[in-house]
Amino acid sequence: MTAQLIDGNALSRTLRTEVAARAAALKARGVTPGLAVVLVGENPASQVYVRNKIKACEDNGLHSVLEKYPAELSEAELLTRIDALNDDPAIHGILVQLPLPKHIDAQKVIEAISPEKDVDGFHVASAGALMTGAPGFWPCTPYGCMKMLESIGYDLRGKHAVVIGRSNIVGKPMALMLLAKNATVTICHSATPDLGAMTRQADVIVAAVGKRNVLTADMVKPGAVVIDVGMNRNDEGKLCGDVDFDGVREVAGFITPVPGGVGPMTITMLLVNTLEAAERSAH
Ligand code: NAP
Repeated sequence: MTAQLIDGNALSRTLRTEVAARAAALKARGVTPGLAVVLVGENPASQVYVRNKIKACEDNGLHSVLEKYPAELSEAELLTRIDALNDDPAIHGILVQLPLPKHIDAQKVIEAISPEKDVDGFHVASAGALMTGAPGFWPCTPYGCMKMLESIGYDLRGKHAVVIGRSNIVGKPMALMLLAKNATVTICHSATPDLGAMTRQADVIVAAVGKRNVLTADMVKPGAVVIDVGMNRNDEGKLCGDVDFDGVREVAGFITPVPGGVGPMTITMLLVNTLEAAERSAH
């Protein structure tokens, strides 16, 4: 079997067209959805991510503001800026690009963002809302993975989903979203003794580890859906995921590529969350 690709670029284009149309409708009512992106320091990867987010806003009719600060910015100064953005009616979403310099407590900064503007979905109020099924913002990467499953018409009810990784930004929220759709969910992590024994039972596998070839063909049940969140570099320096793509695609039913899979979906869901925040504030 050769798996069908779930194309994150194509799905993103469709969803971004919908975002642009909704943004235009909101604009016609006098509200332009606005995202503030806060970048502290010179981390080269962060600079690329931030540029891509700003460009995605511009391309789809959202207003965006980039606030760039030197690495020496104090935590107190950053918290003051977050307060100002919380009070700014032109800003509906606030994103603080992580990682922050070591002298700044990232969690404290995230908790300072108003939950109504927490479009990254990292605030404890957002995490609590996801856990209890209350309205709130879902973290963009697992939200994008759910949209990918939705795009192939996959019904999760009664299916066994295995999530590899338990970070607060991907693994844990991913597991909660799958659970909310009535999957039976197993979460694996670095202390899981026999990962393959878990993944071989899975109808859906989400790999969010950050290590190449964590998932190989012998660990996948024929026909399973495989979502690869990982972002790594191979020996040639090319971007690759956590999944041994060439091997696993011969066994899986559906698979997401890297690049062109979950990556573009993450930015797309940031646009969706920002638009949603603006629509909620307009109501
Ligand atoms: P993270 O915070 O480092 O978490 C990695 C998780 O993997 C941890 O829970 C860890 O377990 C687990 N793990 C490590 N080695 C393992 C092993 N051998 N077997 C099973 N589990 C193992 O990383 P993250 O922030 O969740 O990100 C994960 C990956 O996704 C990274 O490559 C990141 O770059 C990528 N990512 C991509 C996007 C995107 O848009 N495509 C967005 C976010 C992240 P412990 O908890 O026991 O340490």
